[in-house]
Amino acid sequence: MTTAKFRVVPVPTKIAEAARAAAEAGAADHAVVITDVPQAYPCRHCLRWGNVGERMVLFPFASIPPGHPYSESGPIFVHADPCERYCATDEYPADFREGRAVRAYNSQHEMIAAEVANGLGPEVLIERFLQMAETAFIHIRSATRGCYTMGIERQ
Ligand SMILES: [Zn+2]
Repeated sequence: MTTAKFRVVPVPTKIAEAARAAAEAGAADHAVVITDVPQAYPCRHCLRWGNVGERMVLFPFASIPPGHPYSESGPIFVHADPCERYCATDEYPADFREGRAVRAYNSQHEMIAAEVANGLGPEVLIERFLQMAETAFIHIRSATRGCYTMGIERQ
C-alpha cells in the first residue's frame, strides 16, 4: 500500500455532540431514527454504517459554510450514542468505497471538479483532484442522495 497523500476529515466531535444534545432537547430539525436496513445510515463521525437497531441522529450540516455562492447545508446522520471519531485519517474508510461522488473545491469554496467514482475507487479521483493546484479541499458525497459523507484535505 502506498502512502496516502490525503487526510480524511470526519465531522468534528463537538458537532456530533451538539447534534445529540439538540435531538435530546427535541429540536425540530433534529430527529432520532432507528437503523432498519444495513448500509443506509452512514455515521459521519466514526465513518461507519449504522448497524440495524442502532439509533442515529438526523440533522442538517453546513458542509460549505454560509456566505458563499456554493454554500450548502444538508441532512447527515451521526450515531445517537457516543462513538469514536474515525482516526485512521490516512486511509479512505472501507465502508464508503461504493456509490460515492467526489467533488473538488478551491480556496473560495467554489466547486471546480466533480465525478462519480464508478469502479475506479474514490482514491483515484482524490489523487487526481489533488494534483490540480487550485484544489483546496475535497468532499465525498452519496452519488444517489447527494448527502455529504466526509471531507478530504491534503496530507
Ligand atoms: Zn458513529
